[in-house]
Amino acid sequence: MPVTPPDPSAETLVADLVADLVAEVPELAEYVRAAVLLRPAAGSPGVRDSSVGGPLLWPAGEPWPLCPHPHMARVRKRLTDEEREALERMGRARRERRRSGRRPPMPPEEAETPDRILDGASSLDMTTWERVRWVADTGGPDVPMVPVAQLHARDVPGLPRPDGADVLQVLWCPNDHSGLPGQPHYSGPAVELRYRAAAAVDAVADPPRPHRALDLCLPSSCTVDPVRVADLPSTDDLPAALAERARAWAAARGVDHHRLACRSGWKVGGRPSRHLTGRVRVDRPSCGAGTRLLLTVGSSHGGPDVTVGRFGELRVFTCAADASHPVRLDIQ
Ligand SMILES: [Zn+2]
Ligand SMILES: [Zn+2]
Repeated sequence: MPVTPPDPSAETLVADLVADLVAEVPELAEYVRAAVLLRPAAGSPGVRDSSVGGPLLWPAGEPWPLCPHPHMARVRKRLTDEEREALERMGRARRERRRSGRRPPMPPEEAETPDRILDGASSLDMTTWERVRWVADTGGPDVPMVPVAQLHARDVPGLPRPDGADVLQVLWCPNDHSGLPGQPHYSGPAVELRYRAAAAVDAVADPPRPHRALDLCLPSSCTVDPVRVADLPSTDDLPAALAERARAWAAARGVDHHRLACRSGWKVGGRPSRHLTGRVRVDRPSCGAGTRLLLTVGSSHGGPDVTVGRFGELRVFTCAADASHPVRLDIQ
């Protein structure tokens, strides 16, 4: 598939609209969060450049991170005709109720159908009509992680980082994991963050290649073209009256408010989108503090060419009180 470069005029247009919206509805200002869109494009970044999927400024003497977690594989098994028909019947009944505008309680036999068919597996794939079960496999652990992003503070204004550090390195294990410590609801790559001072690194390590990896999780090397934007939350995260005003303002200009909020694709900071599942389910850091969105990884054909979830986004959250606490991950 051809690479679609980001359209700078579209981005300027959205930025202008957001600025106008916030000027005319000033109550929104406190909900705006700064974000930096990374706009990765296929290229050959150097080891001292900011990049997505590019070489990391990694000290030659420092051990390369190996994934310590067990690996999971998805085993898919076809549903029987009877199971498939039961699910289809349930889908039809649900659509019928929605069309009629009534909201009667779901009949009990319908409510228990998915659980019965799930039979302890982790999900049902209603596109392929398969039962999906996670099983631990023997291909790990100790898989070398791969570079996902290297971000210099000079390129990414407002990059959160500890004192003395000026570069953030994000790596992940390009395999599926389930039940990572502290993240009972997450399945996907295991993510590691490193902060360092670029000037302190002279000799650079030659990274090991993973002996086990999902192609979809191996980012291609990209340069980045960061641009700072004001990110608005989705209307679900605004008080109802304010959400209504924001929606109406956008509608009057022929724009869907979704286009102005929770900017999609690779970004640092900003607001997490909720457009796919309608909610963000991130477990709180064990210290009890809140979370802050650090990085969003987008799915794309071309560019970094990764797919997370069902062509969705992976979000890395850090602890709002102490960025050195373990990250929380979410895919939707
Ligand atoms: Zn792993
Ligand atoms: Zn914390």
